[in-house]
Amino acid sequence: MATAITAPLRVAVVGGGPAGSLFALYALHYGAQAGREVLVTLFEARDFNRAGSRGCNMCAGIIPADVLRDLRGLNLTIPPSLVMGEIDSYALHTASGCLRVTMMDPDARAVTVFRGNGPGPGLPPEPISFDSFLLAEAERRGARVIRQQIEEICARPRRWVRTHDRVYHCDLIVLASGVNGSVLPAHGLPYVPPRTEAMAQGEVFLGSPEVRNRLGSAVHVFFPRSLPVVFGTLVPKGPFVSISLLGRGTESLTIREFLGLQAVQRILPEGSRQVCACRPRIAVGPASYAFAEGFVAVGDAGVTRLYKNGVGTALVTARRAAETAVLRGIEEKDFREHYGPLCQKIHRDNRFGRFLFSVVAVLMRSQLFSTRYMLVADREGERPPDEQAMRRILWGLLTGSYPYEEIFRMLLHVGFERSLSAA
Ligand SMILES: Cc1cc2nc3c(=O)[nH]c(=O)nc-3n(C[C@H](O)[C@H](O)[C@H](O)COP(=O)(O)OP(=O)(O)OC[C@H]3O[C@@H](n4cnc5c(N)ncnc54)[C@H](O)[C@@H]3O)c2cc1C
Repeated sequence: MATAITAPLRVAVVGGGPAGSLFALYALHYGAQAGREVLVTLFEARDFNRAGSRGCNMCAGIIPADVLRDLRGLNLTIPPSLVMGEIDSYALHTASGCLRVTMMDPDARAVTVFRGNGPGPGLPPEPISFDSFLLAEAERRGARVIRQQIEEICARPRRWVRTHDRVYHCDLIVLASGVNGSVLPAHGLPYVPPRTEAMAQGEVFLGSPEVRNRLGSAVHVFFPRSLPVVFGTLVPKGPFVSISLLGRGTESLTIREFLGLQAVQRILPEGSRQVCACRPRIAVGPASYAFAEGFVAVGDAGVTRLYKNGVGTALVTARRAAETAVLRGIEEKDFREHYGPLCQKIHRDNRFGRFLFSVVAVLMRSQLFSTRYMLVADREGERPPDEQAMRRILWGLLTGSYPYEEIFRMLLHVGFERSLSAA
């Protein structure tokens, strides 16, 4: 049996987004469980309580049910004032009309939140930032938070992180800096950040009654043919609608062009007031050398789920890395044995995800296939939920509720092509 490690562990966490705060929360949790002193210092320069882009980690803000459940496992419940909306369905705008995919599992309630303090005017005065909530909880439970940017890290011969005016020595460096900051000089580490793709993100203000009236509690998904976009989504968030566009090999995405599409204007009125816009990047591959002796990368900086549930993946990677560091050790072999398999599993699953998204994007843009798919899905709607395979596949893909490999197998199982041609 492995001997319990009792020496204090000094951790420097670079980045206070979900991955960094959750690493801190889990490390403190496992430390308390094992009776080991864990000293976490977390560095984050962004003030999440500011409105607009300066306080925001640029995201559509859909938090699925399994993340809410895992947070409850840490005794964390998102305060109701942070919840901007509840999602019970996805409306898929295809070449031949709109297909509504409703919640397949009774417990699959997703909520929408703002990562920062929202786009500005039109919101209640109290703080509403999800990232601020997690960071404040990490601080309340014992992490020391330093509101500064890390400018350099070093893993060998001694381990330290440096702000503009001070060097902090530690046993473990946790890189939770996401993929939207500048690349950090990292001495003594072969770490290479993940590959990314361009997105465009924006918010329009409609007022809560109009948002409810026009979008209901559904995320609306579009596959425009005329724009270099893989897909675009509209997400209801209180008085605002968040718009996210995933680019297809181009940086020149504009929310304006998307809002000008006829299919989008059926949901959002022409001339909707855009109050916020940014061009974040999304990780679409794993980092190389995501761990080494005394070093581990978590969340987007390590590996994330392709296109879906980035916050949930930040949680699971942070949890596994914290468990490894506190209960097993911080040598390269500890991370290779206990953290590496999770990263590989996510990466492997993403290959299925990439295939599935390409297929769905092509099908939904095709008049012929989307019409046939809608027929099959419509017929299924009359059957009990566990017999609605086509809807379940779409639900899993759109919400990220199931592993992509499982969805791929479901697809094979139902005999996708046969179902379509039989329709
Ligand atoms: C347009 C868009 C829409 C998305 N929608 C969703 C969604 O609806 N649901 C979902 O689950 N996921 C979504 N994602 C993915 C999600 O945003 C990320 O997966 C998630 O934020 C990853 O968390 P993280 O903590 O790893 O990184 P981040 O959230 O990027 O946090 C990194 C933090 O590190 C800080 N930082 C960076 N460099 C330094 C440094 N040198 N020193 C100190 N601090 C530093 C940054 O300020 C930041 O706060 C979306 C992404 C995009 C781009």
